[in-house]
Amino acid sequence: MERTFVMIKPDGVRRGLVGRIISRLEDVGLKLVGIKILRADEELVREHYPDDPEWLEAVGKKTLTTYKDYGMDPLERIGTDDPVQIGRLVREKLVEFITSGPVVAMVWEGNHAIEVVRKLVGNTVPLFAQPGTIRGDLSADSPDLADREGRPVYNLVHASGDPEEAEREVRLWFRDEELCA
Ligand code: ADP
Repeated sequence: MERTFVMIKPDGVRRGLVGRIISRLEDVGLKLVGIKILRADEELVREHYPDDPEWLEAVGKKTLTTYKDYGMDPLERIGTDDPVQIGRLVREKLVEFITSGPVVAMVWEGNHAIEVVRKLVGNTVPLFAQPGTIRGDLSADSPDLADREGRPVYNLVHASGDPEEAEREVRLWFRDEELCA
């Protein structure tokens, strides 16, 4: 049994998709063991998306791959092709966005919960996310539009990527007594 952290981001809450997103996770048999709606403050969001070179580089590299797929020049669009710098720019936009409205924070439990949730959530970029996934079915956002509007990609949910991240995020967002055994 694994536990994973899932957050419905402000775009998901604003669009009234909380119930549908929860249903999709319940449909595969995952168990909801913690849930709350809150307005996250800047400190919490900065801890959630850490100022860690490894994380920044990973996000930047993913972005560069997306730009390559689109045939877009990162220098022209964002002024840099350095992955860490790109990661830092994305992080700043994320902090502004995630603190802009309420989010729903949840902990889900089940067999291979981390992998199952990531599969259901789909590709980071909704335009590339497969039909049948939350991001693929409920959004069509893309980085080129996001860049033009000076905001992060709106992709409705965050889900932990691996066991280490899951443990860190569950601890960051929930106290033990807020979780059901
Ligand atoms: P995921 O949420 O799928 O784990 P990442 O950890 O790589 O994706 O990125 C964190 C979040 O940053 C994404 O969910 C998305 O909202 C935003 N983001 C990532 N890359 C970009 C980008 N190139 N432009 C705008 N926003 C981005």
